[in-house]
Amino acid sequence: MDGSGLKNYCSTRLGLRSAVRQQDGDTIDNRIAPSASPADHDANLEPQSLMADGADHPPQILFPGKLRAHGSILSNRSARDLWTAAIPWKKMSDSPRILDGVAIAAQIKSEVVAEVQLLQARGITPGLAVVLVGEVPASQIYVRSKVKTCGELGIFSELLTPPETITTSEMLALVADLNDRDDIDGILIQLPLPKHVDTKRLLEAVAPGKDVDGFHPVNVGRLQSGQPGLAPCTPAGIMEILRRSQLPVAGQNAVIIGRSDIVGKPAAMMLLNASATVTVCHSKTTDLPRFTQAADILVAAIGRPGYVTPEMVKPGATLIDVGINRITDSAEVEKFFPGDPERAATFAKRGSVVVGDIHPAAFARSGAYTPVPGGVGALTIAMLMQNTVTAAKLRRGIAAEKK
Ligand code: NAD
Repeated sequence: MDGSGLKNYCSTRLGLRSAVRQQDGDTIDNRIAPSASPADHDANLEPQSLMADGADHPPQILFPGKLRAHGSILSNRSARDLWTAAIPWKKMSDSPRILDGVAIAAQIKSEVVAEVQLLQARGITPGLAVVLVGEVPASQIYVRSKVKTCGELGIFSELLTPPETITTSEMLALVADLNDRDDIDGILIQLPLPKHVDTKRLLEAVAPGKDVDGFHPVNVGRLQSGQPGLAPCTPAGIMEILRRSQLPVAGQNAVIIGRSDIVGKPAAMMLLNASATVTVCHSKTTDLPRFTQAADILVAAIGRPGYVTPEMVKPGATLIDVGINRITDSAEVEKFFPGDPERAATFAKRGSVVVGDIHPAAFARSGAYTPVPGGVGALTIAMLMQNTVTAAKLRRGIAAEKK
């Protein structure tokens, strides 16, 4: 297929192209870390670096649960009272802290809007191309949501929907066309692709500078070597949750269950870059609880409902639940959410409920946790939007300009 054939695909332009007055012409942010925020402007460092360096770390609010995670101090009641007295403005409670992914995502999106407005004032509208092959209902829902969010944040988007019969070489031509286009900063190929399409080859064909999923080997290498680049959205979202919740990472024992290229491995690298002591567990790990029980930060990215049970969790640990598992059996719903009227109502209405990889009963043992839904999942699209803006800036050398 030649370049002109691409135009036959359904292509939807949904971007907001209205000019927006620049509020502060000199402050286009030059940070290039996908998860960076205006609050870090002066530091000009990746959030990971901020977390790695105690001097740059934002003031921490300590919670009893977190203290439990850091040694025996809480077994001593007077020591605990001392901590409580030292933070009189913060109501202390033994309840775990819920890490609200929806609120954090909203904060990131509002920062993206501000960045987009600054770019628009310079005549630049970040653009995202989303490629959805065939008609996979779940993928259609995800893609719609990504395109809709682009519109809300002022990012131009274009949806390309080639048929399921598209060949690898036709897809390569499509990607080459998007690589060449000046109005496209980010290219997202919605997975999974049909079996006959060579997914790996295709992902490697995306220009690294437009690889807003962070899957290209160049971006994987950049992440590993601590260089600025485009990092995978879900693990980047995990780091944002930890950073914005002012949870310590440097020096913590971080255990990740799952070693996928999309979540487990990049999450491990990001936590390592942030100076955590990282252990990656997987399906061949023997005696998993031995590792999880030592985790100050436990990331579960397994794809098995409620796999991490309470006894596997160190009291006071931070639990990051990446899993999204739909359960359709009423007995299972009752097993995970006994006597929970909300879940029962959701099940009655939809015939399913979502549960993470961590058993809901385990959250009570934690110091802080991400709920499912409303935790990590909420961050992924926000980070995609952030990556698109980052790609727009990197491609035009805006980050370099400021130096
Ligand atoms: P995957 O299937 O690619 O990887 C699963 C990993 O879990 C593998 O590395 C495997 O070794 C490990 N594993 C499987 N069984 C295990 C066991 N018994 N003990 C220890 N490790 C075991 O999955 P993925 O793409 O990384 O996704 C994991 C989960 O996260 C899924 O539920 C997925 O839906 C969810 N997810 C959520 C988001 C989000 O935006 N929140 C994004 C991606 C994935």
